Amino acid sequence: MSTQAQNRYKADLREMRFLLFEQFRLGELLGQAPFDSWGPDEVNMVLDTAYKFVCEVLGPLSQGADRQGCRFENGQVFAPTGFKEAWDAIYEAQFKTIATDPAHGGQGAPHMLQVITEEMITGANTSFSMYPGLAYGAAEVIGAFGTAAQKDKYMHGMMFGKFGGTMCLTEPQAGSDVGSSRTTAKKLGDGKYLIQGTKIFISAGDHDLTENVIHLVLARIDGAPPGTKGLSLFIVPKIRVNDDGSLGERNDVNVGAIEHKMGINGSATCVLNFGESEGCIGELVGAAENMGMSQMFHLMNGARISVGVQGVGVASFAYLNALEYAKDRKQGPPMTSWKDPTVPRVAIIEHADVRRMLLEMKSKVEGIRALVMKLANHQDQVRCFRGKDDEKTAYHQGQIDLLVPLVKAYGSDQAFRVCELAIQTYGGAGYIKDYPVEQAARDVKVFSIYEGTNHIQAMDLVGRKLGQHGGKNLQAFIGDIASFVAANEKHPVIGAAVKDLGAAQEAVAGVAMRLLMWFQMGKIALVPLAANRFLEMMSETAVSWLLLDGARIAIEKLNALPATDENAKERAFYEGKKYAALFYAKNVLPNVKKSAEVLAVEDTSPLDIPTDGFATV
Ligand SMILES: Cc1cc2nc3c(=O)[nH]c(=O)nc-3n(C[C@H](O)[C@H](O)[C@H](O)COP(=O)(O)OP(=O)(O)OC[C@H]3O[C@@H](n4cnc5c(N)ncnc54)[C@H](O)[C@@H]3O)c2cc1C
Repeated sequence: MSTQAQNRYKADLREMRFLLFEQFRLGELLGQAPFDSWGPDEVNMVLDTAYKFVCEVLGPLSQGADRQGCRFENGQVFAPTGFKEAWDAIYEAQFKTIATDPAHGGQGAPHMLQVITEEMITGANTSFSMYPGLAYGAAEVIGAFGTAAQKDKYMHGMMFGKFGGTMCLTEPQAGSDVGSSRTTAKKLGDGKYLIQGTKIFISAGDHDLTENVIHLVLARIDGAPPGTKGLSLFIVPKIRVNDDGSLGERNDVNVGAIEHKMGINGSATCVLNFGESEGCIGELVGAAENMGMSQMFHLMNGARISVGVQGVGVASFAYLNALEYAKDRKQGPPMTSWKDPTVPRVAIIEHADVRRMLLEMKSKVEGIRALVMKLANHQDQVRCFRGKDDEKTAYHQGQIDLLVPLVKAYGSDQAFRVCELAIQTYGGAGYIKDYPVEQAARDVKVFSIYEGTNHIQAMDLVGRKLGQHGGKNLQAFIGDIASFVAANEKHPVIGAAVKDLGAAQEAVAGVAMRLLMWFQMGKIALVPLAANRFLEMMSETAVSWLLLDGARIAIEKLNALPATDENAKERAFYEGKKYAALFYAKNVLPNVKKSAEVLAVEDTSPLDIPTDGFATV
């Protein structure tokens, strides 16, 4: 069964096209500023070529990279076999810069297309996707905050595959608590600083894919205030870059070790030592000191969205493989003659519980993909309205801010659950390394941990995002759902589910008020206890809304599509959209009301239990 170079990635391109063109109506944005040069044909061509690319180039490397991992020899890290060729190929095909501003050499396509492409890249080979992902993210920060000289020197090379890139925040004592960072920066003059410290867990921290790696390092300038407010961001190349772009001397940046991990084994996770010999030179990003965290946030927002996209990619990979297996594997008689040992055995997809698992996976994969797509749609709308309509720009930007923690945390949590269900669908084979889903489950777990753990996301949502602009963003979000409910609660097929959505939306609004009350009444200790549950409530409501909206469109299409043999596949696709939405609304959405009831109890058991009460060991 197992071959090291076999592609096991598959994507449902019909579903992707549905989201792009039917639900999020990409066609209305194409052909006009800033997407003038993009039409449906161009979008479809990118989808097809990206799918072909990931199946031919990235997918076949995934299992081998998982087994082989990275090598650390004589101070140098080597990525798995085949990654260098894949790196060259992905940049030649320009898949990383589809949505990049043409002013920076990109193709200026909508973000919606970029996230679908990213989903395929990450779903086909998560480990590989880390290297170009980090390089691109770090380049964007230099693009947003760097000086003109820094952009010339570093950004282009990092965006187009010449240089790798990293983001270096974490230290042994500074994980979630980034403000405890001890890496220091001593001023040398001329924008240059001497950097000293150790960073751990640095993805793509070193490798042999590029001639140089440009690190973005958070460090504290001598005399700067403690905490996050005193952190500045530095460009620290592995090999110094001369003003003419040529490579200079080696900088004092050394790999201490690489981590041996549960998953994403082909991604080098490095301990990096800066300035062991007091010769590590870094440049302040831009000209402003102590702005490191806000600059890093720019990268982190993009990176958090990318983590949600990673979640969809891997979850979709696991779901589609489980589906294929369920159609093939024969086991047991049909339910109707379950006591008869002589009847032919049926494929496990005929069994009710397997169908339940498959539909749960389908609804979650398509739901979180729709959530990601909604966010990307808001990004595209901002690009359309910026400078032309301040109110619309503010609305779309507000929804982006609100949705980032949902996409990152709900996307990654549910992706792990989907992979777990995929293993269960396979039965014993799911636990065996010859089959693809155990790797998916190992690869996917880290998404809820890095880029800020999912609790950090939940606190960002309740502590910062809900109150942003006097609560306007949340009000708009709730208002959009309420409008959908009002327009569709009498729908002949989905009307009952839409009414349940209305109740869920009211429950979310009620808990948001409760959180505010806790802040005002000094019951702040309750907030972190409720934060993850609230993020989940809001995500489940949003996902159900988007699935039901998709079902509404699918039902319209079904009604217009005659039931002929020719239309059978297309009709089945739309039926699938309808049932995914109904399943989610009937089986997952009720959690929202339940969660509101749980939070109303104001249980403080986790705080009340004495620490020694957790166990006697
Ligand atoms: C594979 C991998 C790749 C990574 N890549 C990078 C990278 O490229 N660059 C980089 O800088 N870092 C990277 N990281 C580090 C990652 O961002 C951190 O692991 C993450 O931020 C959590 O920090 P920590 O591991 O120190 O856990 P801790 O911060 O020690 O957290 C442990 C637990 O305590 C909780 N917790 C911590 N503080 C609080 C609090 N104040 N309130 C409530 N709960 C809290 C957390 O939610 C978590 O459940 C990577 C990590 C891994 C595993």
